[in-house]
Amino acid sequence: MSKLLYEGKAKKLFATKDKYVLRQVFKDDATAFNALKKSQFSGKGQLNCAISTALFAVVEKAGVKTHLIEQTGPIEMLVRKVEIVKLEVIVRFKVAGSLQKRTGLPEGYEAKPPVVEFCYKDDALGDPIFNDDHIRLLKVAKPAEVEKIRGMAIAAAVALRKHFKKNKIELVDIKFEFGRDAKTGKILLADEISPDTMRVWSASGEKLDKDRFRFDLGDLVEGYRKVANALGVK
Ligand code: 5GP
Repeated sequence: MSKLLYEGKAKKLFATKDKYVLRQVFKDDATAFNALKKSQFSGKGQLNCAISTALFAVVEKAGVKTHLIEQTGPIEMLVRKVEIVKLEVIVRFKVAGSLQKRTGLPEGYEAKPPVVEFCYKDDALGDPIFNDDHIRLLKVAKPAEVEKIRGMAIAAAVALRKHFKKNKIELVDIKFEFGRDAKTGKILLADEISPDTMRVWSASGEKLDKDRFRFDLGDLVEGYRKVANALGVK
């Protein structure tokens, strides 16, 4: 068994023989509200691994470089080792969640052009929203890296929104994480792209993402399976 390097809320990272490559394994655990709410859902890891693999391919096709090398099993993929940039980058096409709370706008209000937000990835601080000055103050990333990340996040989100639309699903918002490739230093889209990290609504307005768990809206795995089926992911 290879060495466990990191265990997060939804994934584990293991070393491989290649120091620049890691094995990313998806767990069935789900957390919400900064891990105040926790549960396990049999089958979630497998669905998120397959959906992530398919969606990384969509953004790569749109010219956004990602850490994915290949899916190597039902719940695992090989990824390039990166140094994670401590930012959560959120792209929003419609108002929901914390943006609804912060603005008082109704859920579903259209954000055109999309709203991009940066949050500082720090559980102890509750992932606070950061602007460019905060990012500079804490030396989270260089200004050129922030601009690169902003461009990559918008390009990836726009490509995903189009892909979902073709499959009769609306991408409402999405959270990305980026890292610096351990070998080249280049910025790569990392982490995962799954219903854990986005809001997706069906044509009839059904919520198919982690909001099902956050707000007890229905069976989580059933929602994720609907996303996988709509995308033609096995
Ligand atoms: P909000 O800021 O409205 O809570 O979240 C915006 C989007 O980013 C949602 O799709 C949400 O799932 C995702 N998101 C924000 N923070 C986190 C986080 O810490 N973990 C995960 N998995 N997703 C997040």
